[in-house]
Amino acid sequence: MDYHDGNQGKINRGHVYLVGAGPGSADLITVRGLRLLQRCDTVVYDRLAGEELLSETKPSCERIYAGKRGGHPSMTQEEINHILLEKAAKGRMVVRLKGGDPFVFGRGGEEAECLMQAQIPFTYVPGVTSAVSVPGLAGIPVTHRELSRSFHVITAHTTDRDEAAREVYLRSQIEGVKAAEGTLIFLMGCSCLEMICRLLLESGKPPQFPAAVVARGTRYDETVISGTISDLAGRVREANVKSPAIIIAGDTASFCLRTESSLPLSGVRIGLTGTRALTERLSQTLREAGAETVWVQELFVHKRDGQEQYFENLSVYTWIVFTSANGVRIFWEQMRERNLDVRILGGVKVAVIGSGTADCLREYGLWADYMPDTYTAGALAAGLLKLLDRERDRVLLYQAREGNPVLEETFRRYGINTERAFAYTVEAGELHSWAALDTLTYLTFASSSGVRGFIREDPERFARKELRHLRAVAIGEKTAQALAGAGCKHIVTAASCTVRGLTQAIVEDMQLRGR
Ligand code: SAH
Repeated sequence: MDYHDGNQGKINRGHVYLVGAGPGSADLITVRGLRLLQRCDTVVYDRLAGEELLSETKPSCERIYAGKRGGHPSMTQEEINHILLEKAAKGRMVVRLKGGDPFVFGRGGEEAECLMQAQIPFTYVPGVTSAVSVPGLAGIPVTHRELSRSFHVITAHTTDRDEAAREVYLRSQIEGVKAAEGTLIFLMGCSCLEMICRLLLESGKPPQFPAAVVARGTRYDETVISGTISDLAGRVREANVKSPAIIIAGDTASFCLRTESSLPLSGVRIGLTGTRALTERLSQTLREAGAETVWVQELFVHKRDGQEQYFENLSVYTWIVFTSANGVRIFWEQMRERNLDVRILGGVKVAVIGSGTADCLREYGLWADYMPDTYTAGALAAGLLKLLDRERDRVLLYQAREGNPVLEETFRRYGINTERAFAYTVEAGELHSWAALDTLTYLTFASSSGVRGFIREDPERFARKELRHLRAVAIGEKTAQALAGAGCKHIVTAASCTVRGLTQAIVEDMQLRGR
């Protein structure tokens, strides 16, 4: 192979990072792995390495899928190795993203050997292996004081497809670790669960020996089936579980050390749309309430040009009003670009729509002078109006172009000297996946522009899908109106325009629906 960079005509070798993605949930990658993923030029990924993680890559990143499609490997190991070599040889920073840990049955070792042979520098970045974390998240610890002093991770996969050969292999594995009496963890064993249970019985384990299967661990459709080595195979067959799955045999397999199922939103799957900053906060709050969250569509905030008129003479205003954290951030970007000192705002009062905006403002060292009790644009307009003086005050509304006009309308109606700055616009990115929508109970919207961006993707499809099962959650009235205008039937509206308000609205809706 030729390692010369065609453009520069000089040797320019890249670097390959063999990164463990963790067991599925996008937030179970390591910080080191995530940072590399965010910077890389090429990512080569598997089916097990959660697709959601891919949204972390930069827009110019080349994404290459190397996993199976419909059960068939779409690329041989040789082809994958070839791609890694080829991309690195072009001087690219390559992340080879693999499910769990790259060196646990992931053929990461082979890729490492191949890179070494070709003298391509590479770095191993460990991942959270499913062998330990999937049982653990299902409440099954792999060791436990005095009960299980070791654990043994065994692959049930053999290159030999012959059943008899597989039985010989599995029997030797089970016999090999028998004396240790540790927890046995089988990976890639779904198709031979019955054989594994029988071999355990034959090796002398009692029929009541605990065993469990955890399928699709960390995902919304995770299934945990516990039993004994006598009845587990039957139960799993009945439940018709989907791969990937892990088999655990040992005393701790009967444990259920978890309490999340008592959380108000446990088992509820919620799709999110909105800006990254908001979605991250919302996702965290919803997850704390037990929900599973899926990123459906990202909104991008673009600042608008032509704001000189406001920033040239900021001190003429007596009030500046922010209706979103985005507005606050853009405002400070503008201040910085113009080398404006914060003391220019010394005589200016600041109003915010709600606590999220107030928190954001505080990060810049400013405490809001006014915030309504109810976090809506209407309440802000009504409350602030009481503090304003027609003679003295001059108000700057720093909003999105798509923002709620109620403030401007109200203040003008009462003769308040008001200017509205169209500070930024919001633009919807691509939809991550239509297929994911089928699995959701709720879909959240944090602005009416978010609703428009979503519908624009495919209006008819939106109506069809959405009307049938999805419940749309609106952060406020204006967002709810946009949803209703789009023909949406089930709308849940937050009482206050915050991440907490959205979460609370879903919890209450679940209770209303009998949960
Ligand atoms: N390198 C990976 C394992 C790759 S082998 C790791 O360290 O986790 C693939 C096997 O891992 C699957 O057949 C299944 O047994 C197990 N597995 C991976 N992710 C899983 C998940 N989310 N739930 C259940 N089993 C999983």
